[in-house]
Amino acid sequence: MTQHRKIIHIDMDAFFASVEQRDNPELRGHAVIVGGQPDSRGVVAACSYEARQFGIHSAMPCSRAYRLCPNAIFLKPRFEAYRSVSIELHKIFSEFTALIEPLSLDEAYLDVTECSQHNGSATLIAREIKQAIKDRLNLVASAGVSYNKFLAKIASDMDKPDGLYVIRPEQAATFIRSLPIRKFFGVGKVTEGKMHRHNIFTGADLGRYDEVKLCQLFGKSGNYYYQIARGIDNRPVRTDRKRKSIGKENTFSEDLTDINTINDHFDRLAEQVANIMLKRGITARTITIKIKYHDFSQITRSITPPQLVINGASLQAALPGLIKKTELGNRPCRLLGVSVSNFVDPPKKRFGQALLFEE
Ligand SMILES: [Mg+2]
Repeated sequence: MTQHRKIIHIDMDAFFASVEQRDNPELRGHAVIVGGQPDSRGVVAACSYEARQFGIHSAMPCSRAYRLCPNAIFLKPRFEAYRSVSIELHKIFSEFTALIEPLSLDEAYLDVTECSQHNGSATLIAREIKQAIKDRLNLVASAGVSYNKFLAKIASDMDKPDGLYVIRPEQAATFIRSLPIRKFFGVGKVTEGKMHRHNIFTGADLGRYDEVKLCQLFGKSGNYYYQIARGIDNRPVRTDRKRKSIGKENTFSEDLTDINTINDHFDRLAEQVANIMLKRGITARTITIKIKYHDFSQITRSITPPQLVINGASLQAALPGLIKKTELGNRPCRLLGVSVSNFVDPPKKRFGQALLFEE
């Protein structure tokens, strides 16, 4: 029998907002929102737990956050500060293992299978990492422990903030059976809706479908859903991952022809991409839209504007010109996507590159 791996997923709690509250005591106990300004089209990149009590969450437009809590303190992100914390986090992780896969400035997978500390107990290692983060950085992290990345990531989210949640191999089947389908990594709103229409609400429901049927319904993701419904995820913790582009796309349950609806969808996608850029401190040069028409033929249109792509406004400004170069509005489409690429190296290149990755 092969030995199970030991994977830890570390995720800082309300990261940007917590760093702000740590560095400025006057912000403690207050609703703090990091991201755009209340009167801008920007989105919330992170918010403190005090802000969450008002129903504010990340990716929400700042104007809406302001309406929910006019007393909230809106701050511009300080990426240099977040990057330096990220470097310190990485140092702590590397005291336990060299197998570290950063997902963003505040999130990483660690493979501690070969780690000898604490007699190889991943749970005790995770506890020590959390303690080191508290003692040395004065910040709070949540940890998930399991035997693969899929379960470790779900686990870190189970007990936030300051959580330490373990899913042992023998508990996995029961855990997955009761898991709502939207908690499965990779299941967005559209897929969730589609699964609900096929009476798939939990891991147990998903597990009743065979692989062929799942592939018929969900294309190549079908294999993935089949595997994770059985607790199988063999993806290794990769130390060398580096993304060359980031993007968001939506598949629609009904083909779209109305150009206003299409514009609205593009605006929303642009905001989501801008939010990821903000979170990861990314500046890009090139914007690309992707369209799949109703007959599955696919096109992309790109532009590299003279000005750098820094936020949602720069993305949205480029959209009309790109849309004009397509048949949208005349020809029904089933998928729209927005992405940015050609990243500008952050000033602290040596560290930045190692830390700005994708999920
Ligand atoms: Mg986090």
